Amino acid sequence: MKVAVIGGGINGICCAWELARRGHEVDLYERGELMGETSSASSKLLHGGLRYLEYGEFRLVREALRERHWWLQAAPELTRSLRILLPVYAGKDARPRWQLRIGLILYDLLAGRRRLGRHRWLSARAVLEEVPGLDPEGLRGAFAYYDGQMDDHALGLWAARQAESAGVSVHEQTEVERVSTGGELYVAGETRLYDRVVNVAGPWVGELMDASELQPRYRIRAVRGSHLLFDRPPPAPMLLQHPDDGRVVFVLPWQDGMLLGTTEVAQPIDQSPECTDEERDYLLEVYNRYLSPALKPQDISSHFSGLRPLPDDGRAPTQASREYEVERLDRLIGVYGGKWTTARALARQVADMTEA
Ligand SMILES: Cc1cc2nc3c(=O)[nH]c(=O)nc-3n(C[C@H](O)[C@H](O)[C@H](O)COP(=O)(O)OP(=O)(O)OC[C@H]3O[C@@H](n4cnc5c(N)ncnc54)[C@H](O)[C@@H]3O)c2cc1C
Repeated sequence: MKVAVIGGGINGICCAWELARRGHEVDLYERGELMGETSSASSKLLHGGLRYLEYGEFRLVREALRERHWWLQAAPELTRSLRILLPVYAGKDARPRWQLRIGLILYDLLAGRRRLGRHRWLSARAVLEEVPGLDPEGLRGAFAYYDGQMDDHALGLWAARQAESAGVSVHEQTEVERVSTGGELYVAGETRLYDRVVNVAGPWVGELMDASELQPRYRIRAVRGSHLLFDRPPPAPMLLQHPDDGRVVFVLPWQDGMLLGTTEVAQPIDQSPECTDEERDYLLEVYNRYLSPALKPQDISSHFSGLRPLPDDGRAPTQASREYEVERLDRLIGVYGGKWTTARALARQVADMTEA
């Protein structure tokens, strides 16, 4: 079959790759550069998403843990396993220690033999030896658990090279203006005809459907997430719980420095994502509540923001499902949502639906 894939983020790249692997003739259209948007603005984690267990997303977490393993095996030079500390305080935390323990036991169980290491409990003394800057007041100890870290931009381009080797033709700087359920695609003022068209334009999937006057079953909600970068390395890779709203914030090594993030702020799709002063202060506040020496705005070396494509399920951004939805309208397939880690699993579902 002749297939057009729209969107050169990780989900589009993996869809194109999977379809080419199955013997289809694939054109991948990207209006900017491959990996130029959300997929390079992530927290750089190949993870199951420990906190999604709170919302009962066991299927997604199991799938993501399987996929985490695959990426770590397939591209060891661009990925690594990371030991992350989750400090626990008496009275300060949104989640009690028993709840975290159950979550981590489940996380280990869902990973099965693909587990990167079993979680462990560390006493307050042991944690303070490791992280002397951690606030000792009320500290009960910390859980240590494992997840994957990646260079998201480089790993996505690696996947794009695999896709090209499998036969995908990549068209960058080529915006698709409209699509139709009959397999038509409007590009640079001309119409091109395909057996199938896959709209996997991430946060912009709905925008393209609107421009095409189509009414899909699903809608996307764009939720901005920002990260701050610092030149100094982190005290340790950590997951901190915000004492006020219970959200979790990562403190991670990134290149030779530290990455701190992220936030969740709903925003209109037609605005480009920018880190606001409120987000900056929020992230600095979480860090400074737990760690010293304190970080100041002038310590920030850079920042970046991206838009999560989340299927609109009516829930608050923090609680919104990270599951993805795929809908077929005759020859047109629309993809709504999809995390970085699960891009290959999503691609298999899209390819099955394309061939059905
Ligand atoms: C702050 C933040 C942190 C995150 N952290 C993680 C994490 O640690 N781990 C994880 O697994 N996931 C994470 N995610 C989720 C993950 O990054 C995204 O869900 C994923 O990257 C989405 O990929 P995508 O390919 O669907 O979208 P995108 O990467 O945005 O790609 C869509 C592409 O479509 C193109 N496009 C749009 N319209 C058109 C058109 N009309 N014609 C041609 N091209 C078009 C765009 O230019 C864009 O390149 C995070 C997300 C955010 C925002």
